[in-house]
Amino acid sequence: MSRPDQEDTSPANHLLELGPGEGSKVEHIKIESHHLRGQIVEELNQETSRFSEDHVQLIKFHGMYQQEDRDLRQTRKAAGAEKAYQFMIRSRIPGGAVTAEQYLVEDDLADRYGNSSLRVTTRQGFQLHGIIKGDIRATIKSINDALLSTLAACGDVNRNVMACAASATSPAHQRVQEIAHQIAMHLAPRSKAYHEIWLDGEKAVTVGESEEEQTVEPIYGPTYLPRKFKIGVAYPGDNCIDVYTQDIGLVAQIDGNEVTGFTVVIGGGMGMTHGKTETFPRLATPLADITPDQVLPVVGTIVTVQRDYGDRKNRKHARMKYVVEERGIAWFRAEVEHRLGYTLRDPSEIVFQDVDDHLGWHQQADGRWFLGLNIVNGRLKDTETQQTKTGLREVIKQFRPGIRLTGQQNILLTDIAEDQRTALEAKLNEYGISADPTTTGAYRFAMACPALPTCGLAVAEAERYLPDLVKEIETEMYELGLDGEPLSIRMTGCPNGCARPHMGDIGFVGRSKGIYNIYVGGDWANTRLNTLYASTVRTENIVSTLRPLLILWRDERQPAETFGDYCHRIGIEQLQERTTAAQVGIKG
Ligand code: SF4
Repeated sequence: MSRPDQEDTSPANHLLELGPGEGSKVEHIKIESHHLRGQIVEELNQETSRFSEDHVQLIKFHGMYQQEDRDLRQTRKAAGAEKAYQFMIRSRIPGGAVTAEQYLVEDDLADRYGNSSLRVTTRQGFQLHGIIKGDIRATIKSINDALLSTLAACGDVNRNVMACAASATSPAHQRVQEIAHQIAMHLAPRSKAYHEIWLDGEKAVTVGESEEEQTVEPIYGPTYLPRKFKIGVAYPGDNCIDVYTQDIGLVAQIDGNEVTGFTVVIGGGMGMTHGKTETFPRLATPLADITPDQVLPVVGTIVTVQRDYGDRKNRKHARMKYVVEERGIAWFRAEVEHRLGYTLRDPSEIVFQDVDDHLGWHQQADGRWFLGLNIVNGRLKDTETQQTKTGLREVIKQFRPGIRLTGQQNILLTDIAEDQRTALEAKLNEYGISADPTTTGAYRFAMACPALPTCGLAVAEAERYLPDLVKEIETEMYELGLDGEPLSIRMTGCPNGCARPHMGDIGFVGRSKGIYNIYVGGDWANTRLNTLYASTVRTENIVSTLRPLLILWRDERQPAETFGDYCHRIGIEQLQERTTAAQVGIKG
C-alpha cells in the first residue's frame, strides 16, 4: 500500500505472473531488454541498414521508428536490392514549447540527415523523416545538445504531454503549460539506457546510487506499460488538445489568473482494427476533480492501474480505454482511491465551446503579440509556390521569437513586439507565407497522418492525398453555395487513428489503397465521436458520396448549425436512407 498523496510505485505487474509464452512478443522483448538496452549498441555498430525485428520494437522507446520508402519497394525488389530502410526520429516536446535556437537545430537536422522536411506532429512534437541508420546517433546527440529529447516520444510509455499552446495569453494558460511539463518529467523513463546508447556512451551516474537503484523504473516496472499512453492538459472552454482522445485528460479550472484545480477524464483513444469488434474509438470518461497538488500523484496512480490491468496478451486490445470500458469508471476510481489512500471528489461538468486553432495575430498578457501560422499537415517544406521551411527559418533567425507547436500541427511565433509585426509579416510574404488564416481556405481545419510512403502500417494515402481531396470538396461547396462554411476534416491511412479521425465533421479512415471509410457527425468542440456513414468508398466516389449530405445540410440546417451537428441531429440511418439513391459507391 502506498503512502497517501503518492502513487503506488510497486513495480509489480501482471506480466510477471504470466507463464512462458503467455504475454505478447513485445512484452518479452521489454522484460529481456534490461530496461531498454537490449543489444541496441551492438546492432547500431553493425554494417547493416536496419535493426533486427526485436530491436525495431525496442528503439521505439528511444524515439524512433524503423521505416522504409514504400514508393521504392517494387523497383528495389525487382532489382534484388533490400528495402530502402530509413528512420523517423521524433522529439518529445511537452506543450509544443521550443526556443528559436531549438527550432533551428531541428530545421538544420532535417536538411543534414533527413529528407529536407520537418513535421509538426498531432501531439505537438517534431518528426524528422528519412534518417539512415548511420546518422541516428549524430541526430539524437544534436537534439539532446539542444536540450530536447527523443526518449519516450514513442513506445509503451507516456508519450508527449499535450497542452494548450497559447501559453502567452494569460498566466493561467502559462500554468497549464507548466503542469504539462511537470507530468512529462514525472513519467519520463528513469532507465539510463538512453544516455548510455546515444550520448557517447556516457553513464549518468549519481554518486551513492547502486547500479540497480539507477536503473529501476519506479512507476513503470521492468515491462513498462502494455501500450502507448497519452496525456493532455486543456484550458477551460478550448478543446484545442482533443482532451477526450487522451488516456488521461486534465481540464483546468481557473479563478482569475489562478489555476485552482482540474477535472480529470480517462480512457480516451482513437485506434481500432477494421473487422475486430473488440476494438473501437472511445471518448474519455470523467473521473474526478483534483487540486493542482494532486496532479502528479493522481496521474501517476492512474498509470499504475493501467500498468497492472492493461491487456498484455493482445496489443490491439491493450490501451487503457479497454480497462475503463470493461471494468467501468466506478471500479477504476475505487482502484485509484485505494492506491492513493484517499477519496476523490466527483468530477465537475466540462463545457467546451470551441477548438481554437490560435491562428492569426493575438495580443499576449505582457502586451506583446503572437502569430499563429497554418502549416498544412504540419509539414515544413519548400514547394514552388511557398517556401514554408526556408521562410520560417529566416524569420526565426531574424526575429528570434518563442515557438509553440499546436495540436492541429500549426506553429505560433510568440513574444513579438508591436513594432516588429509589419516587418515580420513582410518577411513571411517574401516566401509566400501569409499571416492571414483565412487564405488557408477549407484546409484550415483539416489534418492528415503521414501514411504512405513512410508509415509501415499505412494501407492508404493520407497526407499526400488529403490536400487534393479538400480542394475537390471546396469546389463542390462553392458550387452548392456553401463556400466559406467551416468544415473540420481528418484523414488517416489506417485505423490506428494518429490524426484523430473520429473527431470532427468528417473523418476518412483508410481501408486499402484508394479506399476509405467515411465518418460524419462529430461536433466542432470535439466532444462527440463521428459515426460510420459509408464504408469502402473509392477515392473517385468520395465527393459524390458527400454531395447529397452537403445539400441536405444546406437546405435543412438550423441557424449556425455545423455540418457535424446537422448529421448528428438527423441520425446516420436516416441520412443513409435519404441519400442512398443519389450516392455512388456505398456498399454498406
Ligand atoms: Fe501510420 Fe496509421 Fe498512424 Fe497513419 S494512422 S501514421 S497510417 S499508423
